[in-house]
Amino acid sequence: MAGNEPDTAEDIDDDEDDWMKYANAGFGETDYSLWDDVEPVEEDEAHQQEVAMQLGTHVEEIPRAPRPAGLKHLVRQGTCDACLGRVGGKRTYGQSLEEAGKGVRDSVVEQDSHLANVREDEPLCPFCENLFEEVDLLADIIFDAIEPYDISRLQLGARFPKDQMEEEEKLRKRLGAGGSDPLKSSLVEEIGKRLKDRLDGITMVSDKPDVLALIDVLTLTVELDVRAVYVYGRYRKLERGIPQTRWPCRACKGRGCERCNQTGLQYEKSVQDLVGNPMLEIFQGTEHAFHGMGREDIDVRCLGRGRPFVLEIKEPRKRSFNAEKLAEIINEAAKGSVEVSSIRPSSRSEVVRIKDTPAEKSYTIRFTIEPMNEAEYAVLTAPVDMTKEECRVSSPIYSA
Ligand SMILES: [Zn+2]
Ligand SMILES: [Zn+2]
Repeated sequence: MAGNEPDTAEDIDDDEDDWMKYANAGFGETDYSLWDDVEPVEEDEAHQQEVAMQLGTHVEEIPRAPRPAGLKHLVRQGTCDACLGRVGGKRTYGQSLEEAGKGVRDSVVEQDSHLANVREDEPLCPFCENLFEEVDLLADIIFDAIEPYDISRLQLGARFPKDQMEEEEKLRKRLGAGGSDPLKSSLVEEIGKRLKDRLDGITMVSDKPDVLALIDVLTLTVELDVRAVYVYGRYRKLERGIPQTRWPCRACKGRGCERCNQTGLQYEKSVQDLVGNPMLEIFQGTEHAFHGMGREDIDVRCLGRGRPFVLEIKEPRKRSFNAEKLAEIINEAAKGSVEVSSIRPSSRSEVVRIKDTPAEKSYTIRFTIEPMNEAEYAVLTAPVDMTKEECRVSSPIYSA
């Protein structure tokens, strides 16, 4: 039901009144459209249905895939093989998108041979705008981009214009088979399949990657988000006058001047640089960040078991390391200013934990004892007179 049919006798009367008003104004002589707000109840119902059917054919009457008429429509619209495979609803287990799509196309062309070369007349796939034709190219770009990086976990992502995503979603819900995969995830999956065979020792993951390769479908470029490497350790500061983190020179704010000897540093050494610089070289990163547990005074040494820290290496090309060897290299380079131990792999979440933990500080207090003078000595060593009364009374032995 269209929802505008009268359902009570009263309504019918009202409608008839309205209908009569139009009739009196001279039907056919005015610009009023009869269909705007009133429908004559005595109108032939069969005719009404026919009108509805005619209107319907433009929006509703194309069946969705995988019904044959739906598949034929997809082919006629210039849908590419990959998208035919994706939204056609005919893909079987283990079949690639293209294989499934070709199967759909062949079955349609069998019935309608003039659709054989439809992609020549409709060269732009309405679902993916021919993005699936770029899958090999994009896989190549990613392959080359990650080549310098020593990684074991790779995640792929794609950046799409919002309106393209929405248009595809609408079209897929209207013409595609129910449960068809969205454009973005399918495209990423196809690129992943191409890469999987070529990348040795790299697992495709959906979280905690070493590198996230982000594909921009507008420019057909790839942006790499190389995740940092985190290394935990403890350091002992054996020399005074070394700050924990690097301080930019106050005079030049780190640009480098005469006062800082062009280093840009307020203090020549810092625990951060002493620990981080050798690591930067080993991991071939771009910069380091130092996360120490608690702050400490520049003029105080830090001994004992040492203060926990996590060093972050940004955009590293290498990620694996031998902890003992790493500690050795750092300690050798620091020449006794700083000493690290307990080196092991760490993570971003440990950085948060270390920063939230109040430092466990213990200070050593040194003092000297001066010799006592005679008066003090006499007071301390004076004999106690046990014969005094209060002494006897309060003591249970004597009170018996
Ligand atoms: Zn397509
Ligand atoms: Zn300076």
